[in-house]
Amino acid sequence: MLVKEIMEATSGKLLSGSVNDEITHFTQDSRACVKGSMYIPLIGANHDGHDFIQSAFDHGAQAIITSKVIEAPDKDVILVEDTLKALGDMARYVRKKSQAIVVGITGSVGKTSTKDMIYSVVSQKYKALKTLGNYNNNIGLPLTILRYQDEEAMVIEMGMNHLGEIDYLTNIAKPDVAAITNVGTAHIGEVGSRENILKAKMEITHGLKDNGILVINHDNDMLATVKEGNFRLKTIGIDDPADLQAENVILKEDGSDFTVTVDGETYDVHVPVAGKHFVYNALVAMAVGLSIDIPIKQCIAGVENFELTKNRADRLLLRDGIILFDGTYNANLDSMKASIAVLSQYEGRKIAVLGDMLELGSYEEALHREVGKALCEKNIDLTLAVGKASEYIIDEVVKTGREGHHFENNEELENALKDTIQPGDVILVKASNGMHLKEVVEELKEIY
Ligand code: ATP
Ligand code: MG
Repeated sequence: MLVKEIMEATSGKLLSGSVNDEITHFTQDSRACVKGSMYIPLIGANHDGHDFIQSAFDHGAQAIITSKVIEAPDKDVILVEDTLKALGDMARYVRKKSQAIVVGITGSVGKTSTKDMIYSVVSQKYKALKTLGNYNNNIGLPLTILRYQDEEAMVIEMGMNHLGEIDYLTNIAKPDVAAITNVGTAHIGEVGSRENILKAKMEITHGLKDNGILVINHDNDMLATVKEGNFRLKTIGIDDPADLQAENVILKEDGSDFTVTVDGETYDVHVPVAGKHFVYNALVAMAVGLSIDIPIKQCIAGVENFELTKNRADRLLLRDGIILFDGTYNANLDSMKASIAVLSQYEGRKIAVLGDMLELGSYEEALHREVGKALCEKNIDLTLAVGKASEYIIDEVVKTGREGHHFENNEELENALKDTIQPGDVILVKASNGMHLKEVVEELKEIY
């Protein structure tokens, strides 16, 4: 972006520098600045990024956007009212100027996994850019779009905690195609009800181009109620007929096989990650691909060759045939259930090591009890849990006569786990990130 374009996009005022300078890199991290970077100081709960402007210059930044008047004669300094808003304004400008096809993804769970799969499909035909890691909020999404150079497509994840957030993001990204993976219970504490979660996810259509395509999972009870508006619907599913339906589904330890029928022809598909949820993610990715003129064979190749973003239910093989699933990155009811279902497919003794799912407000007890029920339904042999809310999980488990133990802290949990582990065990460790169960995984990795 040229400095003059940045000024136009943000209605900013140039305090010093040249309107013809070109900025090639944007960051909110002063230490990540390089030659040609623009540093964007953001005001957070604990820090004010404006305190690090000098550090940004020391690292080579050429330009800054600032809401405080500063003097730096040999740098491009653009004064704006609000740097966070200016970040969004710049991304909106870049998106508008680009000719790229934009795919937007939201949903209660599975956004990153599905985004990666969509990227793999889209890359079969187009040069594409995707959200890295979990850069899916009002900072990460604009920064993602500001990485745009000359790609033909952008695959963009949109996350939310509250109503209105997806509305903001979709009006920056302006997708040509949008996808909602599912409507579950994540963030129900803040949003209030599942109806409101649906409403929040449906905000993605506010930025969708007229007559654009919305891909939804029709097996999801809430999404099944969605009607076409100024967008066209494309449904995917397994259990019920859908525009793109997986049939003859076979779930295996190392992936799934199924068939899809497109234009009267039936094709075999192999998804290289275990779990029914990944069949859904693959269907979403293929439906998105078909919506942007990618031939079905290329869609399938994209699904079959995709790479999972690190940390998403990583499967680790330890000594003595012990299999460990690291699900410590995050947890909510849907991802818990999905992971428990994967665990249940294994032959060895199945152990669930669980911690609380956070941010559930008044739904906390009910949803933790549901996890307990899922453990029983799926015949999980042993459950070890830590955290206050997880007592409800153990209560359900024990009630049905299965083995479960509750612990006060991670250390006690770890000790109990070490005492019980045997060769051939299959262990799932999962909780919200804030429960720090990653420590337990690291410890096990050291020992085995
Ligand atoms: P975040 O809100 O942190 O961005 P996300 O929506 O991007 O999460 P992922 O990171 O893709 O979700 O997946 C989180 C967990 O949910 C992982 O354990 C993953 O295996 C599981 N998962 C992936 N896809 C689905 C799905 N369609 N349904 C249920 N669980 C899923
Ligand atoms: Mg994500």
